[in-house]
Amino acid sequence: MTAPRLDIDLVAITHNARTLVDRLAPLGIGVTGVTKAASSSSAIATAMLGGGVRGLGDSRMRNVVQLRAAGVSARFTLIRSPMLSQVEQVVGGVETSLNTEAAVLVALSEVAVRTGAIHGVVLMVELGDLREGVSVADLPDLERVAESLPGLALLGLGTNLACQSGVVPDQRAMDELSGLVVDAEVRCGHPMSIVSGGNSANLEWALSTTDVGRVDDLRLGESILLGTEPLHRRPLEGLRTDAFGLVAEVIEVKTKPAQPWGELAQTAFGRQTARRPGSSVRQAIVALGRQDVDPDGLAPPDGIRVLGSSSDHLVLDVGDHDVSVGDEVRFGVDYSALLRAMTSPYVARVERAAGRDPGPAEAVGQPVG
Ligand SMILES: *Cc1c(COP(=O)(O)O)cnc(C)c1O
Repeated sequence: MTAPRLDIDLVAITHNARTLVDRLAPLGIGVTGVTKAASSSSAIATAMLGGGVRGLGDSRMRNVVQLRAAGVSARFTLIRSPMLSQVEQVVGGVETSLNTEAAVLVALSEVAVRTGAIHGVVLMVELGDLREGVSVADLPDLERVAESLPGLALLGLGTNLACQSGVVPDQRAMDELSGLVVDAEVRCGHPMSIVSGGNSANLEWALSTTDVGRVDDLRLGESILLGTEPLHRRPLEGLRTDAFGLVAEVIEVKTKPAQPWGELAQTAFGRQTARRPGSSVRQAIVALGRQDVDPDGLAPPDGIRVLGSSSDHLVLDVGDHDVSVGDEVRFGVDYSALLRAMTSPYVARVERAAGRDPGPAEAVGQPVG
């Protein structure tokens, strides 16, 4: 079968989405399934929808356009502030976008009026992580802009923590968001129907708090795809962490001296990796590199260690494993490795639904039967 490839278990993705949707529903929180790491895979988006997410979110219009073209039918939210150069596509392609800039709202409004659309707007508030968001002090002004512009509907507020600075979405931050929603409703004179509290990093809070306040939406990507939460990268109870495996093929197996020889300077990518002391290492090279994946995010099988990587070679210490040229090695992936592998043109995808073992034809993207 073609290599390198991502083996994708769609049943695991649906299971994770369903489990999170069912756990959050009693709290009054719906799930927006975030597809950005799925790089416009309609099978993954469909697997999320099959688990009951109420809509899909992506940060790139290109992905949204491709998903829609592939027949994925859902409410879409653009979860990154629109580029001014893309407002036409945004109004035409998604029901709602997350926003932080008045100039963008003006441009979205112009397109919406011209095309007869009503574009939903959620304003993102900065609560300490220092990525996107309008300051609490400037929120009333931005609300006024959104309210005054024709063709726009101010649907609610949101925030994003953890991604940039690792700020924990805790009770204090979520209470602050809820308070801002109440103030905004007083100012605007209508209810805010979307209060989007954050991403997978919010789950620890959401699943343990006794008071979710006004939060009624979470935008979940990593937890659905990998079954982990991003704060400590721990598996979430009841979720599957094996939805993705990256498979690569062995192209060299040799016993080599434990240490390099000659004068040492920089490697192709800067630092040298420490090699095990000893006299020799049983070393395998797999045809996988930085053009395919973030090697730091790979989890090799037990007893195998990554010794180093360059553009196209990943060097492994295979210990006592019986490994030969032509064998395949399967790695677990973290979010960073998944993102790179999904977006690399060199990595094939094999999407597996229940009980179906795809033949080699499907692996290279040809129709089967
Ligand atoms: C990526 C992203 C998410 C999803 O984050 P996960 O940690 O993968 O759940 C949610 N919201 C925004 C704004 C994002 O950029």
